[in-house]
Amino acid sequence: MKIQHLPLIEKRPLSSIADGRPATLLTTEPVWHLTKDAIDINPKRTIYVDRATVDYMDGLIPLCEGEVVYGVGGGLAIDAAKYVASKCAMPLIAVPTILSTDAFLTDATGVRVGGCVRYLSSKPPELVIVDIDVLRSAPPAMRASGAADVLSIATGMWDWQEAERLGENPPDYHVTPQAIEIGKAILQTLLDNAREIGKGTPEGLTILLELLCMEVQLCYLCGHSRVEEGSEHHFVYALENRLTGHALHGDLVGLGILLMSSLQSQTWHRYRHALDCLNINYRPAAVTTEAIIDTLVSLFDYVHHHQLPYTIAAGLAITQDVAEATVAAVLD
Ligand SMILES: [Zn+2]
Repeated sequence: MKIQHLPLIEKRPLSSIADGRPATLLTTEPVWHLTKDAIDINPKRTIYVDRATVDYMDGLIPLCEGEVVYGVGGGLAIDAAKYVASKCAMPLIAVPTILSTDAFLTDATGVRVGGCVRYLSSKPPELVIVDIDVLRSAPPAMRASGAADVLSIATGMWDWQEAERLGENPPDYHVTPQAIEIGKAILQTLLDNAREIGKGTPEGLTILLELLCMEVQLCYLCGHSRVEEGSEHHFVYALENRLTGHALHGDLVGLGILLMSSLQSQTWHRYRHALDCLNINYRPAAVTTEAIIDTLVSLFDYVHHHQLPYTIAAGLAITQDVAEATVAAVLD
């Protein structure tokens, strides 16, 4: 058995970074505008990442030059940097400027293929540099967005256990009691600290960083992501095809958690309270009520078409009436 491990993480100010090696930098324009004066690196090539498709990522590979790759920003930039560094066999240093996803900890790169999400194997960073003051200065509505990928344990773990009960888990995906207990502890710690995390205090953001580490480490122990990726993520992948503009992954996942936990007959109010405390906007502007209802009604076909792992979405064909009532309840 081989268990992947988390990357080395150093908590220190961005101003402590001084790296003269020629580098390929993957970032986004607004992030680099705000951070370039604080980081002393030597980019020979700067790439502003704006998409997550396979063709786009493959197109970045020939642009790679120098001795080291830097990924600076949120999930999009760092996921692309992981892919490029892996394909070019170069060391990668990740500098998350926002805790919007767990991408800076993982060894795979999420891409959109044919209206769904697939994970390409890439690699984890050799080093992650975290400046808590930088994370704190991110806009409150985005700062703790990655907490949604911890809260998704609430619905993902329910789905995983339901799949086990129905004999739908393949041999390598069986539920173990210890994974469930650890998952519950991570989820409860998030619920207990949601207000502090949402306030963006150093303590709160440190807790969120550690919860993201624990969630990723638990997935590595299990050998898959079922503990935190279930019907709420499948709903998001389907909904992404109906967005009228950009939306944060965490906001969409927050919405998915509310809808799916309600359909799972869970006490979803506590999850909505947590999302409110975390400043996660589960009513993103790019999502219409019609889009949510259409996504729910077609979700059964969607998850079967894309052969996604068994969740409540694969077992329950949601009617128009149920979809409308669920949306009305969780977004009242
Ligand atoms: Zn996610």
